[in-house]
Amino acid sequence: ESKKAGRNCVTLFKDEMATQAAELLKLERDIMKAMFRDEFYFVLQPIVDSISQKVVGAEALMRWRKGDEIISPVEFIPFLEESALIVDVGERILNKVCAFIADTKGRDLLSDGFRFAVNISAKQLARTDFIETVSRVLTKHNVDGKYLDFEITESVALNNMEDTISKILSLKKMGVGFSLDDFGTGFSSLSHLKDLPVDKLKIDRSFINDITLDKQDENLVRSIIQLSKNLGLTTVAEGVETEAQVEWLMLNGDILFQGYYYSKPIDPLKFERKYLNQEVVTK
Ligand code: C2E
Ligand code: MG
Ligand code: MG
Ligand code: MG
Repeated sequence: ESKKAGRNCVTLFKDEMATQAAELLKLERDIMKAMFRDEFYFVLQPIVDSISQKVVGAEALMRWRKGDEIISPVEFIPFLEESALIVDVGERILNKVCAFIADTKGRDLLSDGFRFAVNISAKQLARTDFIETVSRVLTKHNVDGKYLDFEITESVALNNMEDTISKILSLKKMGVGFSLDDFGTGFSSLSHLKDLPVDKLKIDRSFINDITLDKQDENLVRSIIQLSKNLGLTTVAEGVETEAQVEWLMLNGDILFQGYYYSKPIDPLKFERKYLNQEVVTK
């Protein structure tokens, strides 16, 4: 009896592996098609200054339009990163964001200091030609690096730290700013924070979630805000959803907000209409 059950288990396991392999193969084919058909695009989510209540920037977030479906990056970014296709797709997104910057700047819609944040994978930054690539894209669209912020995670520190730092410094010379994304998750280490020459620190959404409900989260976020301030960084709170969170954060420092409370990520055209041609915004 138990032997038979064991055999069934093995068969089931094999079936599952075969299914997974088939799914992966299909995803790979679909992604190649998507690149060919140019199905990757970006949406924008506003970043708001808590004091002035002005929108001071936006994060560009990738989406995949597959037929009538819109696919979230959590479904395909891990695959893009594993297969190194992220290098290619990431460059296309940067191109599209720069085209949008050139267009809105050309119509005088960008206020001083406005920045568009673009997520950069560790795989992209590790490329020897990354700086050249960014420089070429900026030149192509005649865009100043000062309109960009690159969001990196601490996983870049898993590559060659010296190389990473020297690349960040070269890009900063071109005006590009840097944010440390998802701070507090993954391989967090204070030495990364000390060594990486970033300008902003983004507190991960998972910590913001319960700041008004959980004393420990509250203390943790308060400490992160203080740490960020002591290091001379600008703090961004990610995933702000409720008024109570906004109030709590306002009492705890001069920080930037990003989250559904203000807006979900929206199409660039809608973003432009809603946020780029008026002075004070929010909600
Ligand atoms: P991330 O860079 O940490 O981006 C923030 C994520 O939180 C986005 O998810 C955003 O839609 C979501 N978010 C923002 N505010 C709220 C909120 O109030 N509540 C909730 N529940 N979620 C909120 P999204 O767009 O699904 O992106 C997921 C991740 O995919 C990103 O996390 C980033 O790591 C990656 N990603 C997105 N676009 C790109 C890209 O162009 N290149 C690379 N390499 N990665 C990207
Ligand atoms: Mg990000
Ligand atoms: Mg983030
Ligand atoms: Mg996050």
